[in-house]
Amino acid sequence: MRKINPKQHSAEHILASVFNELFKARITDTRFKDKKVRCDFHLNLNSPLEEVIQKAEEETNKIIAKNLPVTYEEGKREKLVDKYSLHRVPKEIKNIRLVKIGEEIVTPCRGEHVSNTNEIGKIKIRTFNQIKPDVIRLTFVLEN
Ligand SMILES: [Zn+2]
Repeated sequence: MRKINPKQHSAEHILASVFNELFKARITDTRFKDKKVRCDFHLNLNSPLEEVIQKAEEETNKIIAKNLPVTYEEGKREKLVDKYSLHRVPKEIKNIRLVKIGEEIVTPCRGEHVSNTNEIGKIKIRTFNQIKPDVIRLTFVLEN
């Protein structure tokens, strides 16, 4: 597997968290390809897609600009399952590593990340469309 850019990877976690908080959306797929990152979200679209995208981009950049530290917590699934959302972790995985961006954004992940959000830059959502009634697809890039 090709190595994922830690900046893009960290930005994806923040964006996914923002979509979840603002729109109850769940990220269902992510593809990293050079400078672009493509993400699919499952959600019930209650307002125009343009507004959703603009809000998500703004909120993500606000969080990035907070210069949040990125830390890790590792533990047994049984201990973490009540505290965190572990739906994306296959059931057979018993030892889980969580990446924490600030205190609020906690994602099970073994990838590489930045050590502070100030390394990410800014996200810019370049394209977006509704690919199914309840699925939107977007691509974002990072700018300095
Ligand atoms: Zn990650």
